[in-house]
Amino acid sequence: MLMSQLYAPTLRETPAEAELASHRFMLRAGLIRRSAAGVYSFLPLGLRVIRKVEAIIREEMSKIGGQEVLMPIVQPAELWHATGRWNDYGDEMFRLVDRHNRQFCLGPTHEELITDLIRSEVRSYRQLPLRLYQIQNKYRDEIRPRFGLIRGREFIMKDMYSFDRDEQGLDESYWACYHAYERIFARCGLDARPVEADSGAIGGDVTHEFMVLADAGEDLVLYCTSCEYAANVERAEAGPVASAKAAGEQLPMEEVATPGTTTIQEITAFLGVEATQCIKTMIYLADGEPVAALVRGDHELNEVKLQRLLGCSQLELADPETIAQVTNAPVGFAGPVGLAVPIVADHAVLEMVNAVTGANKADYHVKNVNVGRDFNADKAADIRAAQPGDPCPTCGAPLTSAWGIEVGQVFKLGTKYSAALKATFLDENGKEQPLIMGCYGIGVGRTAAAVIEQNHDEHGICWPMSIAPYHVIVVPVSVKDEQQWETAQAIYKALQDAQVEVVLDDRDERPGVKFKDADLIGFPIRITVGPKSLSQGNVEVTLRKTGDRTEVPVHQITEYVVNIISKG
Ligand code: ATP
Ligand code: MG
Repeated sequence: MLMSQLYAPTLRETPAEAELASHRFMLRAGLIRRSAAGVYSFLPLGLRVIRKVEAIIREEMSKIGGQEVLMPIVQPAELWHATGRWNDYGDEMFRLVDRHNRQFCLGPTHEELITDLIRSEVRSYRQLPLRLYQIQNKYRDEIRPRFGLIRGREFIMKDMYSFDRDEQGLDESYWACYHAYERIFARCGLDARPVEADSGAIGGDVTHEFMVLADAGEDLVLYCTSCEYAANVERAEAGPVASAKAAGEQLPMEEVATPGTTTIQEITAFLGVEATQCIKTMIYLADGEPVAALVRGDHELNEVKLQRLLGCSQLELADPETIAQVTNAPVGFAGPVGLAVPIVADHAVLEMVNAVTGANKADYHVKNVNVGRDFNADKAADIRAAQPGDPCPTCGAPLTSAWGIEVGQVFKLGTKYSAALKATFLDENGKEQPLIMGCYGIGVGRTAAAVIEQNHDEHGICWPMSIAPYHVIVVPVSVKDEQQWETAQAIYKALQDAQVEVVLDDRDERPGVKFKDADLIGFPIRITVGPKSLSQGNVEVTLRKTGDRTEVPVHQITEYVVNIISKG
């Protein structure tokens, strides 16, 4: 490809809306262009990267027996009604109506469709396991589309679905895919880490997310400093806190005026106590019913854990009117003593002695509140967010935290979809059984963006060889110099003949401009044909990632470059 012909409109200025390096460089290097919020076109360089990620995914899916299919994007509403997800999916689903007034959606995911696809044709255990996947656009009307390809509303996903006869089969499919994902991300040049994740309100099932640790991530990951334990904060178990039970005798309850102090910070300052001595009482609506949730003042409530514990499909903080009804007080003065709604307490709250909490009375708190004496919890459970410094649930060493970008997720579904859609098979005894399913997704565009997050500098992208749009750029310092131009062309031809993906910068531009573009686009290898090296019969090879420069004799350049590429 000649640079003068390549449709890669680069931008000198940083587009204002691009906060992240990946977004910025994909726009500036001419990989993508936005057409609406969260909706992008891929230009030639961007598409080459996407196709390479897809090729790696296809190879690895094929290695674990995955067979590629392509399902429709437009899906009939009836299938979604059958599983209840037409409602559950809410506003994230793009919905449409045809001329006959039939309802459809643009697929946000394909569990319903694939289950429907195979249910009439998979009948016997002999046909199992079955692992089918596709690579296709998905549609989700995200509340906040942002960060370019990282959170789009139209995005490319690889989604695989496995069908097995029993739990053991599902286990094999799950771990086969888990390991395939490890290989895929490693081959893309990503440092991605599997973490335990929450499976949503249905609970019980096993799932891992593959996280790329990056400051730009939207998920908080807690991981152990000494063993392999790592979990999304939504999931991470909060270990026991040191017991305070022996800390002293229970004192009589005492009401204290605390005018206008509603936050833990204000209370601790006003009363001169530690946050660890306060109980935070939050009133929630679980499927519309009020419930009080208690955590220690220095802890954060984890709504995912609370929702899983309550088994409700909707959980939200109660509005001020409900709080006033339940506590007889405005927001900020709730406490567990005398409350007439169910109380869920975090384990750490049960260890507290002589705690401070809201008095359920405007402008008052109570001191010396003791569980068991002054109130009882209907349920005690782990409902707080684990935090850095907490003991690892596996080995006890302290946990630490980092932000992560979720690039993939593997999920044991069990029979949720097969039961709802009656997808069954006959086992060895001729007995009808529901298919046991798993599902496994990778965000293709998000993966490419995550690679940039981990591989860039202030000048641009530093593509790993495996997914670089081209391997090499050949830059003659001056195209007007006959010897340089002829040498550059000869090298370009020789590399093409050796199947190297190469661009020749044939533009009559200053070398600085050409080097800037080469760095921005991120060609892993730059071959500079300049007068000084050439007088010695050499050209200069620069590696984008390290900046290492080597003089290489012109007649050895193809071999030299092919060797670097083969090493990856
Ligand atoms: P998130 O929590 O980030 O919204 P998710 O858990 O809803 O993602 P999945 O349903 O697990 O996403 O989808 C599988 C993969 O698809 C994700 O791991 C991610 O890589 C990708 N993905 C999901 N939503 C988006 C999006 N809006 N834009 C780009 N990629 C996405
Ligand atoms: Mg996910």
